[in-house]
Amino acid sequence: MRDFPKVELHLHLEGAAPPAFIRGLAREKNMDISGVFDEHGNYAFKDFWHFLKVYEAATSTLQTAEDYHRLTLAVLEESAAHGVIYTESFLSPDFCGGRDVGAWREYLHAIRDAADQAEKSHGIIMRGVVTCIRHFGPEKAKETALCAAETAGDWLTGFGIAGDETAGKPKDFAYSFDMAREAGLRLTAHAGEWGGPQSVRDALNDLGVERIGHGVRVAEDPALVEELAEKEVVLEVCPGSNVALGVYPNWRAHPIGMLFDKGVKVTVSTDDPPFFHTTMTDEYDRLSDTFDWDDGVFKTLNTIAANAAFCDEKTRANVLERLEKTDD
Ligand SMILES: [Zn+2]
Repeated sequence: MRDFPKVELHLHLEGAAPPAFIRGLAREKNMDISGVFDEHGNYAFKDFWHFLKVYEAATSTLQTAEDYHRLTLAVLEESAAHGVIYTESFLSPDFCGGRDVGAWREYLHAIRDAADQAEKSHGIIMRGVVTCIRHFGPEKAKETALCAAETAGDWLTGFGIAGDETAGKPKDFAYSFDMAREAGLRLTAHAGEWGGPQSVRDALNDLGVERIGHGVRVAEDPALVEELAEKEVVLEVCPGSNVALGVYPNWRAHPIGMLFDKGVKVTVSTDDPPFFHTTMTDEYDRLSDTFDWDDGVFKTLNTIAANAAFCDEKTRANVLERLEKTDD
């Protein structure tokens, strides 16, 4: 499935950092991040909360706009090598300049410059979605939303929330989402990964998002599954991430197949691929093995993703045209 053209909507930029890249940065800066890796040099953690800690330790090596320029190039090169033609990446002003609007502009400029470079050399299109971090609390989220609102435009096109889903309630963050919406940003929220179906209802009702990051636990509530299908809410599903973190014990137990069969608009992404020892190619291979999905199904999923992408219509038409050329 490596060359199959893919659209990815849920990728955390720092979470996609190749381990060798992070090790290289740590070496250059004389930083000790030995607890981050296992004996094979892969990211290592015990559970989701430990994962957040390891993630923050790895991310601590990314300190300048130039670091993010290099990171973006490394990540997009890897995505393009797995057939990704369009990617939406979650960006964190919390990590990029400590939520200071001026510093954030510099980081964003560097990321965007690298994205332009990658588009020229690899043909991959990237758009940015700012995410606030839920366990940092609503006050910091407001500062993050301000960074997003001040830089909203044709490239920085969305706003969302990530982090520990069990911290606080979606409505605590409504102010930030209102600010982002008024700035013209499209909205998504992580929900229904660690929280149950109600967390998805809350994100939809209290934050007014049009997409849900993960959202897979709606599978526990047949009425909600039906409602999502009817309302055409798009789920950014990351099966490999869910299995790696133990949300589901194995691929067979993952509800993406059932959700697709029930008419829910599902899409496929990798979340934080090297942390979960996955790639877009691996995701497609596993889905094809587990659910017997053929190229036609993957083409449908990619068309759903392209139509749900937070980009302008010209870019969307371009992506859809490239998907259309896929043989099936
Ligand atoms: Zn995520």
